[in-house]
Amino acid sequence: MEWDSEDDGVGVLQDGHSFGSDSPDSKPTTSSISENEFSCHCCYDILVNPTTLTCGHNFCRHCLALWWESSHKNECPECREKWEGFPKINILLRDATDKLFSEVVQRRRAEIQANPKISRSLLAFQRYGDNLGRSKTNQHKGAGFFFSGVLTALTCVAVMVLVYHWGSGVMEQHELLISKPVSHWTPEEVVSWLEHLGPWTELYREPFHKENVNGRLLLMLGDEELLNSPYSIENQAHRRAVLAELDRVKTLGVKPPQNLWEYKAANAGKALFLLYALKRSPRLTIFYLYLFDYSETFLPFLHTCCPVVSHVAKSESRFLNSQLEPSWRQWAEFLVKYCVLPYQLIAEFAWDWLAVHYWTSRFIIVNAMLLSVLEGCALWRLWTTARIRTLPQKMWNHFWKMLSQGFAFALLWPFVPQFVCNCLFYWALYFSPIINIDLVVQQLMHPETQAP
Ligand SMILES: [Zn+2]
Ligand SMILES: [Zn+2]
Repeated sequence: MEWDSEDDGVGVLQDGHSFGSDSPDSKPTTSSISENEFSCHCCYDILVNPTTLTCGHNFCRHCLALWWESSHKNECPECREKWEGFPKINILLRDATDKLFSEVVQRRRAEIQANPKISRSLLAFQRYGDNLGRSKTNQHKGAGFFFSGVLTALTCVAVMVLVYHWGSGVMEQHELLISKPVSHWTPEEVVSWLEHLGPWTELYREPFHKENVNGRLLLMLGDEELLNSPYSIENQAHRRAVLAELDRVKTLGVKPPQNLWEYKAANAGKALFLLYALKRSPRLTIFYLYLFDYSETFLPFLHTCCPVVSHVAKSESRFLNSQLEPSWRQWAEFLVKYCVLPYQLIAEFAWDWLAVHYWTSRFIIVNAMLLSVLEGCALWRLWTTARIRTLPQKMWNHFWKMLSQGFAFALLWPFVPQFVCNCLFYWALYFSPIINIDLVVQQLMHPETQAP
């Protein structure tokens, strides 16, 4: 037996391609198949766990392991061609030899198992294969990490530029009205407030401007005054919309935020929280809003995503309906979307703001669609791997995770510098979609890998 000495094995291999005609127990079979065809060119005996190399040659697995261990080379013992990857047992050949030469194979198997040196070699060989597989996946991940690293660096620079750009000028005029008491507004500021209500107010700006209506005067206007000259807002829906908005200004004392940037300036912490929480867990976040922020956030959100079907133009109905109790139809539509496609609700909300925030809305819509796809992929993976039963457990874990993160955010938020908050905010808004595109591509290409 060749495996008793390593040199022997190599020696036999080197002296050529002679077939084992000298095999003592070779019995000629009735068919054209003989033991020669199924013999290993290392040990010249019947193949045990035949392993096929990339060159096509077959060897017993233990012979290959011994050869690999002694030569320290990934070469075919016969033709010296390098093999790729980690050679596998040829199942078809193994089953054939096991069946045709069952006695010999069984005897040899027992011998191999009884030989500790061979067992050690086989184990070492297997370990080498496992490590090879692991380093290969790491290499694949390494490329991904490199890509992500470059993306992260670029993103950091871009976010800082954006924060600097927006922080330096554009925001100031927006922030003015939402922090300045309405009684101190100048006539120009009143007109700009009117302008912010929407393009439908264009007709009415001129009279306000001519009359020099300042904040103090604005507060005194009622339905009567708006209807009559000089304002003459004859369209009832428009008048009601202006009055509804005026009411909000009166209660708040300042101009309520009317777009994302104003909202962010007025509620920096909440905007950041909503952005991250809606992305991470839309269902829990919307439920949280329902419980703790019903009239200010939840109702306008519901009315925007599932509007009442009416003839009133959307821009005006936004101011009128946002505090009405939703109809059962709206509730039904909302609940179905909430359960099945919660990101769709966010996309619809952003869709409504398309005219105000051209690019930002598009980023949010794309991100919402990507997140829906990722959620679908995760569910599909659970389904195909028959782990769907673990879903309640996963949801429960997710709930606790979100709760603890929410508490951590609430505690830490006041200590985080404004600049860092801005960076986090713009990061989540504009670069999360890019990262999610990467994730979706990975998911579609390698569906078996786990999403983070
Ligand atoms: Zn062999
Ligand atoms: Zn070969």
